[in-house]
Amino acid sequence: MKKLLIPICIIASLLPSSHTSDEDFVSVTNDYKSVVISTASPTAAATIKPSPTVKPTPTPTVKPSPTPTPSPSPTPEPTVTMYAPDGRTIDVVKSEEEAYKNVGWYPEPVTVMYAPDGRTRYTLNSEIEAYKNVGWYLEPVTLMYAADGRTRYTLNSEIEAYKNVGWYSEPVTLMYAPDGRTRYTLNSEIEAYKKVGWFTEPTVKMYAADGRTIYVGKSEVDAYKKVNWYTEPYTPPETSSSSSSGSHVSSNDDQSSKTVYITPSGKRYHYSKRCAGKNAIATTKSDALASGRDACKKCAY
Ligand SMILES: [Zn+2]
Repeated sequence: MKKLLIPICIIASLLPSSHTSDEDFVSVTNDYKSVVISTASPTAAATIKPSPTVKPTPTPTVKPSPTPTPSPSPTPEPTVTMYAPDGRTIDVVKSEEEAYKNVGWYPEPVTVMYAPDGRTRYTLNSEIEAYKNVGWYLEPVTLMYAADGRTRYTLNSEIEAYKNVGWYSEPVTLMYAPDGRTRYTLNSEIEAYKKVGWFTEPTVKMYAADGRTIYVGKSEVDAYKKVNWYTEPYTPPETSSSSSSGSHVSSNDDQSSKTVYITPSGKRYHYSKRCAGKNAIATTKSDALASGRDACKKCAY
């Protein structure tokens, strides 16, 4: 018995075709099979020659093609891409860049920015943050006012949101209603609110001797007091005029209790309320005279 290491395929090809079962002749192990060849055919194994080693053909070395020497002829000028505010782009030769800049092209995409004073400018996108830091905005802005006097520039798209949290597009003034309500009123609307009974200061209820009442602004109280309005219901002191003797100077005083109209700051009294104007206060002629006022030449005679 001889042991040879021979690839199984080779063994198979060498075996007589009648021996189809390997069991008799070969015992198979791993990669290379340990073959037991029967002594009955000793010559079979002897003829096997190892196959000759194939020499690898050498890879032909590729010669690098020679680098062309740059010709001294003019190299094409480098181009730069320029951007228009409307989004167009154009490639221009470097030497024309300045000329394009002068007619509104930019070396980068640009975005329009807005200043609070209404100016606008195209800003290189790379500079937007820097411009924001010095008070430029990506949208038109409007100055808004808080009731406490603060102001801020607000993107127009955010105005409504700011209004909802107490900002105004105009300066506002706190106004007062006689019933105690208050409201912030746009300064442009103050006059309209005054006409319907609002005041720009807290109000005080004042009383006239004849029972009339009026609401006046706090700062007007003293002026009203001077023309006999009172901050409390007023009860005229008992007078003995009706029962008194004729010693009283009443003959030329027939009109002393006549209702006339004055204004806190006016120098005259009026018979016509309309003539006295919008701040007209009713008082008596004697009180008006006592406060140093003269008769209006137009309506008081
Ligand atoms: Zn008058």
